[in-house]
Amino acid sequence: MEIIVGKTAGFCFGVSNAVNKTEELLKTKKNIFCLGELVHNKQVTNDLISKGLTIINNIEEAKQNVIIRAHGVTKETYDKAKELNLEVLDLTCPKVLKIHNIVEEYSNKGYYIFLIGQKEHPEVIGTISYCGKNADIIEKKEEIKEKLKKFYTSNINKLLVLAQTTFSVEKFNNIVTELKEQINNKNIEIEVKKTICDATRLRQEEASKIAKLVDIMIIIGGKNSSNTNKLYQISKQYCKNSILIETKDELDKEYVKKFQKVGIIAGASTSQKSIDSVVEMLN
Ligand code: SF4
Repeated sequence: MEIIVGKTAGFCFGVSNAVNKTEELLKTKKNIFCLGELVHNKQVTNDLISKGLTIINNIEEAKQNVIIRAHGVTKETYDKAKELNLEVLDLTCPKVLKIHNIVEEYSNKGYYIFLIGQKEHPEVIGTISYCGKNADIIEKKEEIKEKLKKFYTSNINKLLVLAQTTFSVEKFNNIVTELKEQINNKNIEIEVKKTICDATRLRQEEASKIAKLVDIMIIIGGKNSSNTNKLYQISKQYCKNSILIETKDELDKEYVKKFQKVGIIAGASTSQKSIDSVVEMLN
């Protein structure tokens, strides 16, 4: 059996920074709370919980120290933390902070904003809170018509289009092309910012490259992780035998044994330990 492991597999810069800083803090302080999972990976989260981290769903449950996770939170959450006198350790990834700054700047300049991303994703929920009232989220091409109707009623003729950091590059490009075709009005100024982060883009490129070469693709990562799910969808386009697992325990050994060439990639919040354990089992 030949095994090809993606070079990009595993923690990205933002996740690695968030996990390392949290681990450091847990060594010196007690009562550390994190609003939502620090990163979208059950194994990493459980490991941090075993070291003393408490995950909360509401900022009011926090006592003393609160960690802001890698994919950011809403503007109101910072206000609430201040009101509650909490000590905040902000681990929002710089790529997400950059998007918050862009949308605030464009909103102040009078732009209408279309954020391309998944409505329920914590990053999108956070980012949209910085966009002001003239903004909307687009998740699929099919929604464009309805969203444009709302945009036209605003009477604004400047539009900013940007993406969630972990969105699919291909889907984003398709939505932007369709959007421009449907607008087809020279009086409307459209500015597009390519805000999908490099960590996401490179992992997606590598997923399609490896998937074309192998008989089976194993994608390791959280099933609630946006970037891991994108990797799975991309791999499936080029390798119909693509499977998504969180840990080695989900691997059906008999099934995998049937294949000669195995490709392995992992989401940006998957630990090296999880990747190594899958490779070890295959070997
Ligand atoms: S996936 Fe991108 S935006 Fe998210 S934490 Fe990693 S580097 Fe930052």
